[in-house]
Amino acid sequence: MNVLLARTRAELRGFLSSLSQTLEEAGVHVSVGFVPTMGALHEGHASLIRRSSKETSITVVSIFVNPKQFGANEDLAKYPRTLEADLSVCENAGAHIVFAPSAEEMYPADFTTQVSVGGMADVLCGAYRSGHFSGVCTVVLLLLNLVRADQAYFGLKDFQQFSILSRMVEDLVHPTRLVGIPTVRDRDGVALSSRNKFLDAQARRLALKIPAALKTVAQSFLQGMSKSSELLSLCLSSLKNEDGFEVQYCEIRDAKTLGQSSETIETDHVLAVAVFVTGADGVKTRLIDNILLTHDPENLSALLDFAHESVALS
Ligand code: AMP
Repeated sequence: MNVLLARTRAELRGFLSSLSQTLEEAGVHVSVGFVPTMGALHEGHASLIRRSSKETSITVVSIFVNPKQFGANEDLAKYPRTLEADLSVCENAGAHIVFAPSAEEMYPADFTTQVSVGGMADVLCGAYRSGHFSGVCTVVLLLLNLVRADQAYFGLKDFQQFSILSRMVEDLVHPTRLVGIPTVRDRDGVALSSRNKFLDAQARRLALKIPAALKTVAQSFLQGMSKSSELLSLCLSSLKNEDGFEVQYCEIRDAKTLGQSSETIETDHVLAVAVFVTGADGVKTRLIDNILLTHDPENLSALLDFAHESVALS
């Protein structure tokens, strides 16, 4: 395997400087791309890594299950950890360095700083996961400072995370540019997620209701339905609670600020949902998904693809 595995901050620095030097000596322009992950990598992560390796000359992937972003009753202990398989995904998608530190390496005993972005972190997932986005901002800012990438790649699957991190980077004038990558879905439309490993056949069948509902809304929006209350009722009528299927939230919000949506959608808005599905095995899994309601030609193709079912594993 050619991908370099760094376990410490010092190893990461060493690999970055030796690779940069080799590229400079070969006359190649050095630019660094960064993909932060929690591992258990799938095609969604691979699409971020491929994009980075297409656009930059050195791609760094971090694999770190960040304890600071898990609440006391969440799945930190059972979060899947699959480093060997992850290294192959990274290598095949074109990564050069994988940074997989321990919790102690990331957070030495005297670490006390917390980064938070205020109101945007208190809505949608933030209303139910207290402290989650502060944990995300703290780890991502630390990682951005360690890697010093030109560009960092994030999935729009975690739309609120991307909006919050974009705000953080803009407010703090961080030099790394953030790039949002469209959600990669399985052939049946379910968004790829490391937590899909927890779904048995029954939970998976229930999970299908999510892309089905979002798709109905995407089609209606593209056909001209523009009232947020109508789009929301349409979504909720497909997402009816039933045994093993429970909607935590389903909301339309301004895509940039995550503020309340206006009644008529003119600028970019996000329709975001969080759902609990429970399998025949009794395992309850929280899934999130969203679509960007947009007329902006730059962002429209992902919505069109989704509405017309041409989304499949790349
Ligand atoms: P995670 O390992 O779940 O923290 O995700 C790491 C990065 O991969 C985040 O930027 C996610 O938004 C992104 N990601 C996760 N699932 C997908 C997906 N299905 N499509 C695109 N990006 C994804």
